[in-house]
Amino acid sequence: MQEAWLQLQCPACEENWEENVADLSGPEASFDCDSCGETRSLSEFMQTTRDLEVLRQFKA
Ligand SMILES: [Zn+2]
Repeated sequence: MQEAWLQLQCPACEENWEENVADLSGPEASFDCDSCGETRSLSEFMQTTRDLEVLRQFKA
């Protein structure tokens, strides 16, 4: 599988970081912020529309 790095941003604490798409679940999976513990669907952590589109393409 092709590798891609996605930019994530926590909607609660606004922490920014990168994740390899291979290490992520699908966009509807729940995801916990390592910084503040906020739990939301992974799609809400995608920093840009492009990141969300890449995630959807890989997890489709
Ligand atoms: Zn957070």
